[in-house]
Amino acid sequence: MGIATVNPATGETLKTFEPLTPSEIEAKLALADATFKQYRKTSMVQRSQWLKQAADILDKDSQKWGELMTLEMGKPIKGAIAEAKKCALVCRYYAENAPEFLKDTPVSTDASRSFIRYQPLGIILAVMPWNFPFWQVFRFAAPALMAGNVGILKHASNVPQCALAIETILKSAGFPEGAFQTLLITANQVEAVINDDRVKAATLTGSEYAGASLASAAGKHIKKTVLELGGSDPFIVLESADLEAAATTAVTARMLNNGQSCIAAKRFILVDAIADRFEQLLAEKFQTLKVGDPQSEDTDIGPLATASIRQEIEQQVQETVTKGAKIVIGGQSYRDRPGNFYPPTILKDIPMDSPGYSDEFFGPVALLFRVKDIDEAIELANSTIFGLGASGWTHDATEQERLIEEIESGCVFINGMVKSDPRLPFGGIKRSGYGRELSSQGIQEFVNVKTVWIK
Ligand code: NDP
Repeated sequence: MGIATVNPATGETLKTFEPLTPSEIEAKLALADATFKQYRKTSMVQRSQWLKQAADILDKDSQKWGELMTLEMGKPIKGAIAEAKKCALVCRYYAENAPEFLKDTPVSTDASRSFIRYQPLGIILAVMPWNFPFWQVFRFAAPALMAGNVGILKHASNVPQCALAIETILKSAGFPEGAFQTLLITANQVEAVINDDRVKAATLTGSEYAGASLASAAGKHIKKTVLELGGSDPFIVLESADLEAAATTAVTARMLNNGQSCIAAKRFILVDAIADRFEQLLAEKFQTLKVGDPQSEDTDIGPLATASIRQEIEQQVQETVTKGAKIVIGGQSYRDRPGNFYPPTILKDIPMDSPGYSDEFFGPVALLFRVKDIDEAIELANSTIFGLGASGWTHDATEQERLIEEIESGCVFINGMVKSDPRLPFGGIKRSGYGRELSSQGIQEFVNVKTVWIK
């Protein structure tokens, strides 16, 4: 696919872009490298000021940034505006906390003085997806820039205008030319960039395939990577749960961003005692969701980001049903409706040999599973290649502790949905990736943790 803005609500191609040529890429890398040599010497106070200005720009024009995101990838406008504001939040968070996270840490040893110093690495490449086109980038850029690194962005091919807007925001905020640049390049131009000696490390959010490909290329050159890949998060409801609260949260946890989130609740694991009631509540709530124009304030579900994503979810549902799953609601594509719309869908009785059991569903489809008790719930929750997040619903303290201790994932949320928060580390285990974003852990991924020992 070329680099283009295609309105997912209509299928209309609105703008196309030529990928950068090798000499244009070279010029950007040379600028990034030259900028780094100066930028690393700027003070934390100065970087904080620039990042706070970026936050102000994001807040002030959140409507404009929101409309751009919605135009390019179809998320409902309410969520898009909230995304721009969340980016402001992460900028302010690192502007305020990075100095503390990265200050010299004294350690008592046999030296007269020893400590840890955190230094920037240089140019960091970020390969980012379209699903949260601003948030995914700012949660990388804010800590990277505060640490004194410079960033280059290869954004997904369907959100080029978001990619360019982000560069403009950071420049307008005062960051020096070259501190953060967007490279409009295709996926197969990424390897040449990571091969370049001036690029020191890379982070990727996206599919396992893209992550493995980037990490192999980086590995050949002994460069660090952070990978944030897919997930098939369980949402476990046990007998003592507040069912109404669980079902209400389940709708947001599954449907946020038209169901296209790595940390969306995808597998609903229900104990027998409450399964029928939960299914009924969830179906009632799904049926009230308004599918429509994503630019409209009262729309809950917009189109999927691309035609191929819609096709994939349609195929996954069909195959799961062919293998024996039952449709509770939805499950049929809209006929004669332009754009990439897919209806809110619930499937149950999902066979083990179907995609519904093993694959990630990146769209508005909830998969319901019934289990006897918490033992079976944990076993099923862990029977996936992924390990990103998990949500567990129970008021029993012993059950809560078991979920926290036994679920294989990067985070566990009890009586709430999985969400990212600048103050908490974010990332996965197993095939969901490695490394952490956000919090103090996130900023320490791309620094040289230098040991200093003085006699
Ligand atoms: P991709 O992994 O294909 O895209 C993510 C980013 O990686 C894009 O910038 C893409 O560029 C780039 N990319 C793709 N292939 C390579 C490669 N070989 N080397 C370097 N960069 C590459 O995700 P898709 O958009 O195709 O979505 C497919 C699946 O990815 C989803 O079903 C979901 O499982 C997962 N995904 C996970 C996300 C998350 O938040 N964890 C977000 C989005 C997707 P380009 O657009 O030019 O191909």
